[in-house]
Amino acid sequence: MNDIRHVYLDCAAATPVDSQVSIIMQQVLETEFQNPSAIYVSARAAKARLEDARTRVAHWLGARPNEIVFTAGATEANNLALAGMMHVYPNAKMLVSSIEHESVIATSEKFDHEYIPVDAKGQVNQARLAEQLKDDSVCLVSVMYANNEIGVIQDLRIIAQMMEVTRKDRQERNVEMPLLLHTDAAQAINYLDLHVNKLKVDLMTLSAGKAYGPKQSGALYVRAGIELEPLLFGGGQEHGLRSGTESLVSAFGLATAMDVAQSMRKQEAARQQNLRAGFIRELDAFGKDSIVHSHRKHTLPNIISISFLNLDGERAVMMLDEQGIECGTGSACSALSDESSHVIKALGFDESIARGTLRFSMGRMTKPEDIKYVIEVLRGVLANPHVWVT
Ligand code: PMP
Repeated sequence: MNDIRHVYLDCAAATPVDSQVSIIMQQVLETEFQNPSAIYVSARAAKARLEDARTRVAHWLGARPNEIVFTAGATEANNLALAGMMHVYPNAKMLVSSIEHESVIATSEKFDHEYIPVDAKGQVNQARLAEQLKDDSVCLVSVMYANNEIGVIQDLRIIAQMMEVTRKDRQERNVEMPLLLHTDAAQAINYLDLHVNKLKVDLMTLSAGKAYGPKQSGALYVRAGIELEPLLFGGGQEHGLRSGTESLVSAFGLATAMDVAQSMRKQEAARQQNLRAGFIRELDAFGKDSIVHSHRKHTLPNIISISFLNLDGERAVMMLDEQGIECGTGSACSALSDESSHVIKALGFDESIARGTLRFSMGRMTKPEDIKYVIEVLRGVLANPHVWVT
């Protein structure tokens, strides 16, 4: 058999930390410990540095610095966006797509909500959304920019346009309920344009942990004028939206990760798109009964999600691991529960397809030789009868 090679293909779950990011974090950690809320000179310098990081994050969104709230990752940002809005409008309802990350799904379940269905490739069903928007109690729509399991990219502009029509209609009828668009962009940072005015979003979730930055570091963009109820109360930091002594280390981790990722996003997208196309061609050539969950045009360049009929996905992942290949079954988060992927099921597939799903998510370090090795090993794994459910 082949020499064992180490190939990490789980970048949608976690990315390694970029060296520029770790260098700056180390420097900040060692030298800038002051509390940015204190008033002496060194603390004011720390505050200025925090605002510098905020400005850099805002830059990539085309936003104003005071519209960025630093959080401990995307889960918190999603919770703040959804619960923050629903606490201000307790009688309102939210619409969330059926393929959202668990941090959106689980938060929506605490409030009045409806799911927006998706088609077999994961795109939001616009006809259904148009119907759902007729409900005047809807105050928030949450649709992720790019999905973490299958990589589908949503056309947020169209959704925003539909919402604009609803807003005008409400205005004419003197309905006062606001209508905001939130998007979880945690998986989008490495590949997509994040400008909030082009996308016409009101709230955007960011995470450094999938963008070669630190985990537990993220932000929520909150368009100026939007009122949210905080999740954490205390010293009133982050414009009152996120109390707790600010972490310059996390803020610099996110800002630097975004600088690096957004500067190289076009080249990396093109390079990984190429690798992905080759990978899918090889998978097709296996001639197995399988479905690649990718949208023809709107899919992240790094994610390949494939379901094999009657495959035991978990067993396959473990066998790949024995040969140095690290990949996912569905999402890393759902590996914590026994439930199979809600995303694959939302596409209209049954439990057995969901359980037979493998997710390969590439990154900056992925090379053509890695893909070649994975194809060779995977061919061997799929030839093993133990990996199939009988
Ligand atoms: N949203 C999406 C789309 C994600 O992929 C993830 C991470 N799997 C999260 C939210 C949660 O991010 P974090 O770990 O930063 O809380």
